[in-house]
Amino acid sequence: MSDIIQLLPDSIANQIAAGEVIQRPASVVKELMENAIDAGSTEIRLILKDAGKTLIQLIDNGAGMSEMDARMCFERHATSKIRSADDLFHIKTMGFRGEALASIASIARVELKTIRAGQKIGTRILIAGTKIEKQEPDQVLQGTSISVKNLFYNVPARRKFLKSDAVEMRHILDEFTHVALSYPEVFFSCHHNDKEHFHLPKGNLRQRIVSLFGKKINETLVPVSEETEQIRFEGFIGKPESARKGRGDQYLFVNKRFIKSHYLNHAIRSAFEDLIAEEAHPFFVIFMEIDPERIDVNVHPTKQEIKFQDERLIYNYLKVAARHALGQYSLSPVLDFEQEATRQHIERGEMPPQHRAQRPDSSWTSLYEGIDEEARRIRDTVELSQQPTDIFSREKSGQEAEVQQHAEEASRELFQLAGKYIVSPIKSGVMVIDQDAALERIWFEHFTERLANDDALVQAALFPKSFECSPADIGLMEEILPVLNRMGFDIQEFGHGSYVIHGSPAAYEGLGLNEETIIMETIASIRENAEERDLHKRVAIALARTTKGRGARRLQKEEMRSLVDRLFACETPYTTPGGKRCFITLDMGELQRRFQ
Ligand code: ADP
Ligand code: MG
Repeated sequence: MSDIIQLLPDSIANQIAAGEVIQRPASVVKELMENAIDAGSTEIRLILKDAGKTLIQLIDNGAGMSEMDARMCFERHATSKIRSADDLFHIKTMGFRGEALASIASIARVELKTIRAGQKIGTRILIAGTKIEKQEPDQVLQGTSISVKNLFYNVPARRKFLKSDAVEMRHILDEFTHVALSYPEVFFSCHHNDKEHFHLPKGNLRQRIVSLFGKKINETLVPVSEETEQIRFEGFIGKPESARKGRGDQYLFVNKRFIKSHYLNHAIRSAFEDLIAEEAHPFFVIFMEIDPERIDVNVHPTKQEIKFQDERLIYNYLKVAARHALGQYSLSPVLDFEQEATRQHIERGEMPPQHRAQRPDSSWTSLYEGIDEEARRIRDTVELSQQPTDIFSREKSGQEAEVQQHAEEASRELFQLAGKYIVSPIKSGVMVIDQDAALERIWFEHFTERLANDDALVQAALFPKSFECSPADIGLMEEILPVLNRMGFDIQEFGHGSYVIHGSPAAYEGLGLNEETIIMETIASIRENAEERDLHKRVAIALARTTKGRGARRLQKEEMRSLVDRLFACETPYTTPGGKRCFITLDMGELQRRFQ
């Protein structure tokens, strides 16, 4: 039999490697920025068109490349950064595999202009699908400029896989933020479709954090600085009161590389203990420096995961460092405030806040075990389905009658449990409504309806409030602003990430919500829910979520009745938009069985 094994042509081998390294425009941005840093640049400019799908250009003032290197850099495993396998254990540069440019050139049209310091004339190369189409001498002032055009032009399947511009832009800005945080001494700018998103002057880490996240963050930053024999920590954590609901701005770096580690993030979270609410997440930017021999960065092509020799030790160090930082700052006002709140709650005969967040006491927990068949069926359908709305609209008729019945019976006799649940006897047994979940469902339908009917009422503000959007969120804010305004807000852009709130949904009246907090939480929640493609739905879900945690409070009989009525007037009263149950029922049969 003849031989059948053949070596793949370079163009295909590179495309396969590209599949690992280059997943989306953001991966290109990351690789180009890291190369610019490795080249010793002090000024780095990023220019994007259509979230990088049409153009990603990076201009630096670094060391540049010679004519020969300019050709070589597109070869696979061509790198100036390591010479032997041994070097892998002493990696100081961001890149080291020599894969990035070869991969990028195999799936895009690339133009490279570069000049090495001291040379008079630079070089320009055009390359597409791994083939060099042109190389010529060119006037280049300094450093390197790389333009990556029409990403995935020759891999239509990958191109189709790209998400909306807003989502891709979000990923790009994440990568940009990671590098910008690691190198505050370097100037960075970022333009998207001719608009400047970031302009980050050279400075220290605090200044860099402020230019990335907005002026307001400054006063909440607590410095972290700790050193042991094995490891050094530098950076900032946000004071407890600045913790937000959305899991947004948490940045952990090892030797200036951004890493993703739930485990280590948890170390910092745990340092806060009960200083922040259960669902809140603290802000932090922490740099760890560890001897490169104690870690292995070569585990993942995109290098966001690394292996430590002793992760538990690092966990403990990190927790101690964060605690220490928190302790050094006078936190007593916060503690006093909490004690005061607790005292007031007890005086009003309510449970103090930390008890409210707990599950109901054990005798009531048993209610959950006895959910009747009908309710169990509802729950199962919901849990099986990602989109409860669709399922319910299909098999609604039978349940509609049931809901109607619940609605009628429920409002007769109501009492409240732990400021959290409304309990009501119904004909078949007893029903328990989760106030918080109910509120989220009610608000979600409220906003969806206002959008559909275009009939939102605005409550004009007596004193318009201005707020500043963190630069990273300006793109998202631009996208959702028209939707927010159709839902009853009256927000005007002021330029440079500033906005003025002239009015908010009239329906909010009496809820005592702070508009600015609502908008911030909405943005954070939309950012997390990037996979939901329907923008209207995303905004409605996010707005409804901002009421979360605010539903749990003591209610007057009238308020309970109104909440129950409004819940059962909903299209889909069973669950929150996220699929959490709004109410459960326990039937008489089950009750009787439990007494035997
Ligand atoms: P790696 O960064 O892993 O070495 P790359 O494919 O990203 O691999 O780059 C290949 C080589 O091209 C680098 O080792 C470096 O010598 C050179 N290079 C890439 N970008 C730049 C730049 N902006 N300035 C100077 N040299 C660069
Ligand atoms: Mg590189």
